[in-house]
Amino acid sequence: MSDVLAYAELRGSQLRGVARETVTGARRLADELGGDVHVVSVGPPGSGEEVASLADYGADRIFTAEDGEFGAYHPDALVRAFQYLADQEEYAAILFPASARGKDLAPRVAARLGRGLATEITDLEVEDGEPVVTRPTYADKAYARVGFTESPALMSIRPNVFIPEESQGSGEHEELEVDADPVRTRVSPVETSEEGKLDVAEASQVVSGGRGMQGPDNWSLLEDLVDALGPGTALGASRAVVDAGWRPHAEQVGQTGKVVSPNLYVAVGISGAIQHLAGMRTSNVIVAINKDPEAPIFDVADYGIIGDLFEVVPELTEEIRKIRGDGG
Ligand SMILES: Cc1cc2nc3c(=O)[nH]c(=O)nc-3n(C[C@H](O)[C@H](O)[C@H](O)COP(=O)(O)OP(=O)(O)OC[C@H]3O[C@@H](n4cnc5c(N)ncnc54)[C@H](O)[C@@H]3O)c2cc1C
Repeated sequence: MSDVLAYAELRGSQLRGVARETVTGARRLADELGGDVHVVSVGPPGSGEEVASLADYGADRIFTAEDGEFGAYHPDALVRAFQYLADQEEYAAILFPASARGKDLAPRVAARLGRGLATEITDLEVEDGEPVVTRPTYADKAYARVGFTESPALMSIRPNVFIPEESQGSGEHEELEVDADPVRTRVSPVETSEEGKLDVAEASQVVSGGRGMQGPDNWSLLEDLVDALGPGTALGASRAVVDAGWRPHAEQVGQTGKVVSPNLYVAVGISGAIQHLAGMRTSNVIVAINKDPEAPIFDVADYGIIGDLFEVVPELTEEIRKIRGDGG
């Protein structure tokens, strides 16, 4: 029992970035266990071909179910697909992304299989032939190493932690027959944020603003910084500014917002309350700009700039533009 199953998350018929991260995590685990990586998706007609590209990230067997009903997220069909595969194959582990959809699906599959679930994991390894994972606890203030008493070990991986790695899998593609009915949960409609706008949870660089920004009209300062940092950068916000109606809830980072783990997190005019830190402290590099040297955000920051953000941010933006050769 050494094979690992990964959920290939789709939006419509497009693979989401987290699907490649999940398969990368599954590949790492399977390599240590000496097994194969299987992936499964449930999507609209034509989506299977896209999912088959996960062979380039180490998928050995690719199970896809296609149906016109599967254009939107279809948790009932997905649970049936996972149950079918778990009944057929003896998996050591099943991996999901801890994306919004993964957070909905993983507990459903865990309940159906009667297994526990380790959520938001940030690391995984094998000890004595069994998966052991690391996951944050107490609002990210501590990390727990968690083992599993039964197989398969179910886990969801925090987005942006497992950077996709190319690795050739054998990529055998098999079609699954999955019933669209009965339906107990129907998703409709799906409201997406502004067209083409990068989701803060998926961005590799995040610039977040807090109450120190003093009002919604000052956000162009942060938009300029996002622009200077280039593609892959998104805007985030503290809850204080979302509650004030300055920014949409989709941008909120923290315990009651989104958990992000980008390469670079720039906190501008954010004090660093524990509930905010819970959403960003696993970021790779944290930069804090705050006029209060005692602000708790400096306790987690790799680089801190003590100063007035209205002076610091334009200068920083200009310097980044110069370095990137965008003028200035
Ligand atoms: C159950 C619960 C859940 C919560 N969930 C979340 C959550 O998900 N996310 C979240 O963010 N919060 C959350 N909170 C709220 C959290 O406790 C804080 O109230 C909030 O994070 C504060 O936001 P802030 O840092 O923007 O504002 P403040 O705490 O008011 O900080 C503003 C900062 O800006 C600095 N500043 C002001 N002017 C300037 C300037 N000109 N230049 C530079 N710096 C300046 C100040 O020194 C200060 O540090 C939650 C609270 C509770 C109780």
